[in-house]
Amino acid sequence: MSETDAASPAYDRVDVSVLVIGAGAAGARAAIELAERDVEDLLVIGKRSHGDAHTTWARGGINGALGTHDPDDSWEIHAADTLNEGHFLNDPEKVETVAKQMPDRLRELDDWGMEFSRTEDGEIDQRFFGAQSFRRTAFAGDHTGESMLNALVDRAQELEIPYRENVMITKLLSDGVSVYGAVGFDMETGDFVLFNAGTVVLAAGGHAAIYNRHTSRDDENNGDGPALAYDAGASLMDMEFVQFHPTGMAVDESDPEWEPWSGRLVTEAVRGEGGHLYNSEVPESADSGARETTSPGGERFMERYSPDQMELDARDVVARAIAQEIAEGRGTENGGVYLDLSHKSGEFIQERLPRMYERFVDLGVDMASEPVEVAPTAHYGMGGVAVDEYGETDVNGLFAIGETMAGVHGANRLGGNSLAETVAFGVVAGERIAERVDGPGEVPEALVEEIAEPQFADLESLAGRDGEYDVMAVYTELQNLMWEHAGILRDGESLQTGLDELATLRKKAADMDVGPVTSDSFEFALDVGFMLTAGEAVLRGALERTESRGAHYRTDYPETDPDWQRNIYFQRADIGGMTSFTEPVDTPSEAVQDALDEGHELDYHQLE
Ligand SMILES: Cc1cc2nc3c(=O)[nH]c(=O)nc-3n(C[C@H](O)[C@H](O)[C@H](O)COP(=O)(O)OP(=O)(O)OC[C@H]3O[C@@H](n4cnc5c(N)ncnc54)[C@H](O)[C@@H]3O)c2cc1C
Repeated sequence: MSETDAASPAYDRVDVSVLVIGAGAAGARAAIELAERDVEDLLVIGKRSHGDAHTTWARGGINGALGTHDPDDSWEIHAADTLNEGHFLNDPEKVETVAKQMPDRLRELDDWGMEFSRTEDGEIDQRFFGAQSFRRTAFAGDHTGESMLNALVDRAQELEIPYRENVMITKLLSDGVSVYGAVGFDMETGDFVLFNAGTVVLAAGGHAAIYNRHTSRDDENNGDGPALAYDAGASLMDMEFVQFHPTGMAVDESDPEWEPWSGRLVTEAVRGEGGHLYNSEVPESADSGARETTSPGGERFMERYSPDQMELDARDVVARAIAQEIAEGRGTENGGVYLDLSHKSGEFIQERLPRMYERFVDLGVDMASEPVEVAPTAHYGMGGVAVDEYGETDVNGLFAIGETMAGVHGANRLGGNSLAETVAFGVVAGERIAERVDGPGEVPEALVEEIAEPQFADLESLAGRDGEYDVMAVYTELQNLMWEHAGILRDGESLQTGLDELATLRKKAADMDVGPVTSDSFEFALDVGFMLTAGEAVLRGALERTESRGAHYRTDYPETDPDWQRNIYFQRADIGGMTSFTEPVDTPSEAVQDALDEGHELDYHQLE
């Protein structure tokens, strides 16, 4: 149906009972649950074509206590590892939800055709991942996310779940108490659309691409999810915790063949399969860790930082160790350190890490005989939208799941836990919505007049705006600002400067030179808006948290402060902009506390 008001551009109206914004693993799994529970008039939308979501870039694996190799593993120990790694800022209830569900979720993905790597007995294989007590990470080579999303999309198609491609949502229809739908535009035709939906599931990914060196696609993970929810009146939480993955590609940026790969992920599975990290300094003693490879010698520096867990210590520990080696002059020419798997055979590497192997061969590096160069890179935002145990935000009917939500990972995420969270919370949210949903509802006319139509008018005036600043220049300036002021090492003065510079950047963002609705610059201009919200919350949270914990390291407050075992929340205030408050974290259940008390820990040396 097409609607026009004298004061508003024309727009289409679509009535659905549940609108799922996002078609990565989280959105797909929620939709499957809804369809299996006979929810009608459901619609899934995404910014790209069906099956093309950021989930496809996930590489190394997905966690679940199947115990394929280690029968002592259990959901309780999975939960305990997750809390330990989250430095006890995670919501224990959400952690339990994920850990308990995952064995079933993995078997279900297997039934739906996910191509898991298998043991000789045909079981789902599991590998080591950092800081996990047991081999718990199931995988499909090193293309786990792609295989997982293919299986979910196949299942969704079997259930005939409607999907609309290339739609970008720019605003949710909310009065701050309840949600009534969303508005956006068709990225191919440029048509504006109003979705009338009584329930909205926001599964729009994360915000790690607000940093200039990151592992995401440039046009994904710009913070759409958190920014849309915040704008609608929901709270954000834990935004100061951004995971810097230890091993992003470190390249010669003056070489056009290598430059696009700067910061791209070298999966943790390389270390999980036995990869060693070396700096560029040849050790004095020949037997103190020098490599028996053809590559240049160096010190296996993790022995100094983490003698027990070595390269498989938590991501924040390894990332800071690498950053320190580089800062103290023991890095490589391209500003990284060496990651070496050349003590493994070519066949082994090709079988376990086929995509990584091919990528480097294409660039002229054979991982079987030489190391690759790596340095930390922004990878994942542990923070996001605050939700209850079902994934519902504090706006009625608005759910946030997958990388958009907060609560599972606390101060630092275990590798393999985010894919787990997508499907676990997809199911939980789907179940909850199916119990309640009752047709599309009706968006109040006042919201159409006060939010939807002004938004269409704003979009129309943004299109073709002849502003002073280039969109990509503002976009890059923002990413540089975040890296410089809210990177791996932070301090109060620099964070405050970052906030001041962000305010200046906001003014530039209001005066950008933008193309038509269907142009890339239009999409990136909207991304800048989302990134400003996410970036401001990261900077404010990092400034407010006067301690170091997990991925948040303050050089002016290097210790963890027990009084800070609290989550920081952000809400939008009509006056004064972003306001914050804090809440203490809940305590784990008895079962999980018992597992914590047992003190399980990865013993790295069993790998050698
Ligand atoms: C390189 C890389 C490797 C990774 N490897 C692993 C791994 O091995 N194991 C692991 O557990 N995790 C891994 N992760 C993290 C994991 O991939 C993600 O957390 C997870 O896939 C997120 O899934 P999602 O469904 O929440 O979001 P996504 O897959 O990002 O999907 C978001 C969806 O929302 C849509 N969308 C976004 N904004 C809008 C908008 N404004 N309007 C309409 N639609 C919108 C997008 O088009 C997309 O369909 C990795 C991440 C990266 C970057």
